[in-house]
Amino acid sequence: MVEMNGMKGVQDEVPEYVRGEIASVLISAEKIRERIEALGREIAEDCKGKDPLLLGILTGSFVFLSDLCREIECKHEIAFLRAKSYVGTESTGKVKLEGLESIDISGRHVIIVEDIVDTGNTLEKLLPILFEKKPASVEICTLLLKETERRTKDLSVKYTAFTIPDQFVVGYGLDYDQSMRHLPFIGIFKP
Ligand code: 5GP
Repeated sequence: MVEMNGMKGVQDEVPEYVRGEIASVLISAEKIRERIEALGREIAEDCKGKDPLLLGILTGSFVFLSDLCREIECKHEIAFLRAKSYVGTESTGKVKLEGLESIDISGRHVIIVEDIVDTGNTLEKLLPILFEKKPASVEICTLLLKETERRTKDLSVKYTAFTIPDQFVVGYGLDYDQSMRHLPFIGIFKP
């Protein structure tokens, strides 16, 4: 059942099977869709003729990047690498990166696509490794930018879809121990 006429759509409702784990919907599926359309237009405008390489950070960025790339109406390529730093709702502070060795970065205009920038540790580890490979330019694009004092260094994030409070969120690619990535909205996790 889908409710129409401006009423809350079924996609934004918390399904019964996760109601015990979601405190509330922070960003609805509709808001995500609208924002990604605008972000895609902005990136396309900036990147005309540059054939950028969108570098998605797995696993969390897979939903965001798959929707975003379809809104970027200019030629571009997509590659993924894997990063892991969280166990449950806690950042371990250590970041493991895999897959960069097989991606040709040299001379490319790279746009790193993240699900969320929290402490910034992942990007702090990735950026110097990326620059060693001599890209033409590197920009950061993130679905969520968390407002937190745990991020100690200033990262220049060019494209941010949403800035959120310092709470643990799930859905739209973001997980709790690998589950809840499929939810169409971003919800605040209830531990
Ligand atoms: P950072 O290295 O910036 O601390 O965090 C990056 C990674 O931590 C993200 O790509 C994401 O996988 C995970 N992360 C940080 N905050 C959250 C959150 O609120 N929810 C979820 N599900 N993952 C998060």
